[in-house]
Amino acid sequence: MVGKTTIGIDLGTTFSCVGVWRNGKVEIIANEYGNRTTPSYVSFTDTERLVGEEAKNQAAINLKNTVFDAKRMIGRRFSDKKIQEDMKHWPFKVVDDCGNIKIQVEFMGEQKEFSPEEISSMILGKLKETAEIYLGEEVTDAVITVPAYFNDSQRQATIDAGTIAGLNVLKILVEPTAAALAYGMDNWLEDEQNILVFDLGGGTFDVSILQKEKNDVYRVKAIAGDTHLGGEDFDNRLVSYLASEFEQKYKKDIMDCPKALKRLRVVAERTKRSLSSQTRGFIHIDVLKGGIDYQTVITRDCFDKLCDDLFIQTINLVERALTDAKIKRTDIDHVVLVGGSTRITKIQTLLKTFFEGKNLTMSINPDEAVAYGATSQAVVLSEDLSYTINNPILIDVTPLSLGIEVGEADKMSIIIERNTPIPCTKMEKFTTLYDNQTIIPIRIFEGERMLTKDNNLLGSFDLDGIEPAPKRVPNIDVTLSINSNGILTVSATNKNNGFTKSIVIKNDKGRLSKQEIDRMISESECHKKIEDEKQKARITAANNAARNRLKNYMIVVQHTLNFLGNTQLTKREQKKGKQICDLTRKWLNAHQLAEKEEYEFMLNSLRSKCSIFIKKIDSM
Ligand code: AMP
Repeated sequence: MVGKTTIGIDLGTTFSCVGVWRNGKVEIIANEYGNRTTPSYVSFTDTERLVGEEAKNQAAINLKNTVFDAKRMIGRRFSDKKIQEDMKHWPFKVVDDCGNIKIQVEFMGEQKEFSPEEISSMILGKLKETAEIYLGEEVTDAVITVPAYFNDSQRQATIDAGTIAGLNVLKILVEPTAAALAYGMDNWLEDEQNILVFDLGGGTFDVSILQKEKNDVYRVKAIAGDTHLGGEDFDNRLVSYLASEFEQKYKKDIMDCPKALKRLRVVAERTKRSLSSQTRGFIHIDVLKGGIDYQTVITRDCFDKLCDDLFIQTINLVERALTDAKIKRTDIDHVVLVGGSTRITKIQTLLKTFFEGKNLTMSINPDEAVAYGATSQAVVLSEDLSYTINNPILIDVTPLSLGIEVGEADKMSIIIERNTPIPCTKMEKFTTLYDNQTIIPIRIFEGERMLTKDNNLLGSFDLDGIEPAPKRVPNIDVTLSINSNGILTVSATNKNNGFTKSIVIKNDKGRLSKQEIDRMISESECHKKIEDEKQKARITAANNAARNRLKNYMIVVQHTLNFLGNTQLTKREQKKGKQICDLTRKWLNAHQLAEKEEYEFMLNSLRSKCSIFIKKIDSM
């Protein structure tokens, strides 16, 4: 049985990566520019929509209509504190759409609004297309990764983004688990190993402790992290430092000039990368502001100091994960580095010191490790039984504690503890607070704080139909179930009459409705059609141009033959020249719709055959 080809996608905050299983191994697929990671950027212009490299190139010139950081927005509400904070740094406009986030841009002369799911779907669509071009076949099934700290609504929204892009999401895989899987596959670890995955990318930080048990079972013991810590934060520190230096030197504020700021950011990011291999970085930006060419030098020490507290924060989170996993630092067998920012030397030094000199593992390119692991999972989940590969079993954990609100004091009653292996189902007994209470409001929260006001509300429903009775008499069972994708179902059952109510947590935190997803799918298909037609038109134009070049050259040869005539050419040469032109004309008549490459091939061959005649004219 030959199954469908499945792909593994690392949908990153700043960069994304796609892989496929070919010839018995994972292949990371390069995009049309030959790069193995693609910027997670979408840009809207007067004439077209650009995704990836071309979109990122627009960032400095088309600030307001170039969207990035969709992963920071996906599955969140507009009122989310992090969104309110992030908005200050985004050059594009984010608006409140009944509590949901919408990104407002100018596209083809019109004002348009897109949800973060739609933006992510455009990036996923680009990766899908990259794989399809490489494989020469349609791809629909995919495994997509998300940060370990993504909550239920963010995971759901990522699945929705996949659906809009025309993908069938087989599984949502946690990024560090994917990385450990990639590492395990390549090295065939001995049985029973403790692996710590330190994943510091462009926008998120995850640390996970996994136990690889016998028979390829990967058990996630604990996860910790910060959805808002990564390379971009280091860039921000460097940009602020450089901007204040510029202001001190030249009395000009860059912060109020988005274009200058963007140029400074691009150079700062490049300089940061260079500081991972050199101890000094040189900055030179022509005409940054007010006609001033800005030049400065930044040392690695200075950069390390600027980011010191952020670097320490990552180590604190490593400590927290170890405490949660109840594992001593000396019991960690492998420290796996994932994400571009783990190339920073100070991070590596801090980790080595913390783990008392243990070697850090970067055997798989840190930018690709997650996509590598996702692809290996995709193979396992694909229908193609011809693949012979070990089938690792993954046991994830819940990233945050889940519970419901009880009592009048807004107390959080935890039902599923943080870092509980999933899938799991847990039940707690509840009752009424007042005499004759007929309705119990069930409010579900995630978080570690004692009071619900400090945690995240995931959703709510009322269990009604309770027969009037003195307080504490009714018996209510509240059950929380999380499936292997981390999707939460909550149900409440009145044990006295068997009446049950349940919800799957989805729409309450800014998720798209079924209708909205359907609309977006058809819009995306419609857009693809327009793009395909444009592409077709571009190809036809290119083919026609190549055809005309061949035709024109043939005419030039004919004129040359006539011009040279009997005086300059022998009878044999004239006959040969005429034959070549006749053959070319016949070929052109027989190939009205040939490809550009075919016309170019014919043109090159005509050129080499007739160069003798053209040279004669040149030498006259
Ligand atoms: P990722 O999301 O894993 O692709 O990581 C992207 C982040 O890694 C970006 O913030 C990059 O600036 C950062 N990065 C990539 N290469 C380096 C490097 N050599 N040194 C420091 N940071 C890097």
